[in-house]
Amino acid sequence: MTWRFALVLEPAASDDSRTDFADGFREIDPSAPALSVGELSTQRGDGIFESIGVVNGHAQEVGAHLERLAHSAGLCDLPAPNLAQWRQAVEVAASHCPSDGEGVIKLILSRGVEHGPAPTAWVTAAQAADNTAARERGVRLVTLDRGYSLDTPARAPWLLLGAKTLSYAVNMAAIREAKRRGADDAIFVSSDGFVLEAPTASLVLRKDGRFITPAPNAGILHGTTQLSLFDHLTELGHETAYETVPVSALAGADAAWLLSSVRLAAPITAVDGAEMPVDRESTASFNDYLLSPRD
Ligand code: PLP
Repeated sequence: MTWRFALVLEPAASDDSRTDFADGFREIDPSAPALSVGELSTQRGDGIFESIGVVNGHAQEVGAHLERLAHSAGLCDLPAPNLAQWRQAVEVAASHCPSDGEGVIKLILSRGVEHGPAPTAWVTAAQAADNTAARERGVRLVTLDRGYSLDTPARAPWLLLGAKTLSYAVNMAAIREAKRRGADDAIFVSSDGFVLEAPTASLVLRKDGRFITPAPNAGILHGTTQLSLFDHLTELGHETAYETVPVSALAGADAAWLLSSVRLAAPITAVDGAEMPVDRESTASFNDYLLSPRD
């Protein structure tokens, strides 16, 4: 990833009614060391983040990402972020993304320095990787047991299963395991046999013309890309639904996709070695929509 820009925020209280936070940001050199060695984000992965796709300089679905940042902060007992301040930081970062092509803005809110006074917050902007191959050729998946049953998030909320925390070591290990098994990516399944999400993407499948995604109350992230695509599909008159999806439903789907903010829609071409039908026309139209300016 080529980092182009970074800024540090002086986090403002959520009830700070300023409309201009320009003096609450400090631009930093994205290639120079910036964090204290006492940072709890690096020591413990204790913090939350968002990755926002940027297309031709336009940051996509900023409101949905900020809402999820606030939701994750609540689950993690972090101070509520001042969304007006973060929105302004995103605007500044977007102006440093490629005006022609794709970028990615990351928002990070960490618990801060051990015994320190405040959370640490920063924003980066970078050029996005080229995701053409995944969008056009698709991804082969393996199912991986996440080790939790569908009711675990309700019984054990301290596992923070619905928060987008910085603790992604498990997610990265799942992708490495998928690659060891000859696939491109993984799909997590619950210990009681239901489909959840990929390590960095949501799952949508189509069955008999209905678009279905696993319900987010099963301890998975509510994907901003899936939400946006469902709005679009509803406008086009398609039926969409949040359901509890048994693993066996994958084999019976007419088509399925992984959706995420930067890679966008990647059609699933195989699951555990079994080929899946691929709808290239719908995939192309999804990606056309996802690449159009979205707020
Ligand atoms: N699920 C997980 C675990 C993720 O990490 C992500 C994105 O990073 C998603 C789903 C998809 O979310 P979004 O569409 O907002 O990128």
